[in-house]
Amino acid sequence: MNNNYLDERKQMVKYQIENRGIRNPKLLDAFLKVPRHEFVEDNYIGFAYSDHPLGIGHNQTISQPYIVAYMIDKLAVKPEDKILEIGTGSGYQTAILAELAKEVYTIEVIKHLQENAINVLESLNYSNIHFSIRDGYEGWEEFAPYDKIIISAAPKEVPEELVNQLAIDGKMIVPIGGHFLQYLYLIEKKKNQTLKHKLDAVRFVPMVKK
Ligand code: SAH
Repeated sequence: MNNNYLDERKQMVKYQIENRGIRNPKLLDAFLKVPRHEFVEDNYIGFAYSDHPLGIGHNQTISQPYIVAYMIDKLAVKPEDKILEIGTGSGYQTAILAELAKEVYTIEVIKHLQENAINVLESLNYSNIHFSIRDGYEGWEEFAPYDKIIISAAPKEVPEELVNQLAIDGKMIVPIGGHFLQYLYLIEKKKNQTLKHKLDAVRFVPMVKK
């Protein structure tokens, strides 16, 4: 019998995340804890801990575990952080963020995906996640500013309104580009300037206009 897939999670953390250079113990613990198999469709449960993204319906995907770890590591999430996530999707990354931060505000455009994510995350008893159906390009002004913003769909350029909703000394990570080639950018908002660092090439679904 499997012990709720803990062995699979240990393998995932060791070989996919730690061996690729991510060492933050709190981050690794969050990946050991969150049951990724609960966030995938039933017929993909056997692949839940493998090293790639998986379909979640509506032409969307749950991101590869390493990509989620890499992006969150770059954000250097702190326990007191208020986070805005664009693209709730399966809710898996939302759960990892909720393990590490104080509050997570997550936005989705597809109602059905949001409903599935709410069901899973409520069954896991998270109480620091706030959900909204709205256009990610507009952010969620009501609770701004955010210490960290993470975007898991690719816009063509940095959405200016999201930079506005970022706190001073806040960080945002976002894949920028067209359908086939995007780069992750780490945006750091300082008092008098906004810094943009280009990171690795990635492939996300495009961020749609609502
Ligand atoms: N982190 C999620 C990624 C899901 S894929 C996971 O691992 O499950 C990206 C998600 O972004 C999709 O669910 C898609 O519907 C959503 N999305 C695309 N454009 C958006 C927009 N403008 N605003 C909010 N969400 C958007």
